[in-house]
Amino acid sequence: MASSAGAAKKARTPKSATKLHAAAGQQEEEDTSMTFSMELRALECPVCLIPFESEVYMCKNGHGACAGCCIRTNRKCSGCGDGEPIGDIRNRQLETLLEAMITTCKFARYGCGEAVKYTDKRGHEETCAHAPCECTFDGCGFRDLDLYDHVRGKHEVSAVVINGWDTATTVTLRKGAPFLALVDPDSGRVFVLRNGGD
Ligand SMILES: [Zn+2]
Ligand SMILES: [Zn+2]
Ligand SMILES: [Zn+2]
Ligand SMILES: [Zn+2]
Repeated sequence: MASSAGAAKKARTPKSATKLHAAAGQQEEEDTSMTFSMELRALECPVCLIPFESEVYMCKNGHGACAGCCIRTNRKCSGCGDGEPIGDIRNRQLETLLEAMITTCKFARYGCGEAVKYTDKRGHEETCAHAPCECTFDGCGFRDLDLYDHVRGKHEVSAVVINGWDTATTVTLRKGAPFLALVDPDSGRVFVLRNGGD
């Protein structure tokens, strides 16, 4: 009996996963996760094409929509020709799957080592400390982490050096200039003062 139960358990482990983990030198019996590559459109709301992040709804025929789209379409399914109602039935299985998915931050190549939940990915990336900074000078195109060194090296004549954030500094922003870049050698930061116009 014990051996047949063991065989049944083993048969449920897909071959590809076994290979992956064997290659990584992990123990086969302890597998609780698997690595996939997936086309991201499978995880998008089919109506607005924005990734599903929380509630997922479906009509009785199984078409999906996010909460926002249920409201925008007056709770009529866009996938059904006769506009079946949508907005009452949750697709819990897909919600559970999304909750369990772990991925990397898109700034991994800039040094972010965080493993983020798929559903938290966009929120994390908006505030990720490893997000590269874009240079505001026209036509420059610089996009990386060390903006301070870049501005001091490439735009020295246009940048104003200030003496720390706690010291008052008088700067002049010309009327036609779109912004003024301030650099602070103490903190190694760049501060962009945008010109609101008039
Ligand atoms: Zn949507
Ligand atoms: Zn439908
Ligand atoms: Zn990050
Ligand atoms: Zn630049």
